Amino acid sequence: MKKGAQQRGRRVPFVGFELDARRAVRLRTAEALQTGRTPLTLIAVAEDAAQLTEELTRQAIRADPPQPSACREGCDWCCHLTVGTSAPEVARIVQYLSEMLSPQELAAFRERVIRLDEERRKLPVARRDKAGLPCPLLVNHRCTAYAVRPLTCRGFNSADADACERFVKSPGNTALPLNATQLRLTTFALDGLAAGLTESGLKGDRLELTAALRIAMEVPDAVERFLAGEPSFAAATLR
Ligand code: SF4
Repeated sequence: MKKGAQQRGRRVPFVGFELDARRAVRLRTAEALQTGRTPLTLIAVAEDAAQLTEELTRQAIRADPPQPSACREGCDWCCHLTVGTSAPEVARIVQYLSEMLSPQELAAFRERVIRLDEERRKLPVARRDKAGLPCPLLVNHRCTAYAVRPLTCRGFNSADADACERFVKSPGNTALPLNATQLRLTTFALDGLAAGLTESGLKGDRLELTAALRIAMEVPDAVERFLAGEPSFAAATLR
């Protein structure tokens, strides 16, 4: 089951607000890529999209406070769902890990990515989203890349951790009490990021996080080839 795939019907007060988020991220992405096409530009694009979306989310929450959030450090049910992401976000995560982890930790991460990607690929496509496999960035119930986590993860939220557990263990049978505004803002921002990439002549496909991390770790020039317009992350396209 993909993150945010199912939600209980809460009203959405900021209809149109998420379109502003999409537009802003699209324009800023395309503008940044006009000024340069280096891995650092791509990382900056992901950082800018995350910062903008966080700010808009804060504004939305201030204007219309949702139910109290049950999300806490150490609660990781949503880290067992499929995460849709983008090439800039993947480049940012890998760069962050290369700075933050020791060579041993980086090697362990690489092994985890490969093992989990293999496990996922062994499953029929229709069952992958419901397999409950952990994210390779999850260690001891914590995200090792929390500061640079994808927009999808930033959007996921819940007012009931027990419902999240039921949702992961028995997908399709549980509705989640989500803050729909937060979820929609990040979803639209990710879409704007994809649109900005496409307008710049790059591949804007939604990527599955584990597979995309594997490509970024195993193919040394994957990001440079992506920036040259090649489909270097095609094998990670989310279906
Ligand atoms: S990137 Fe971090 S927050 Fe997102 S699913 Fe993975 S471990 Fe969880």
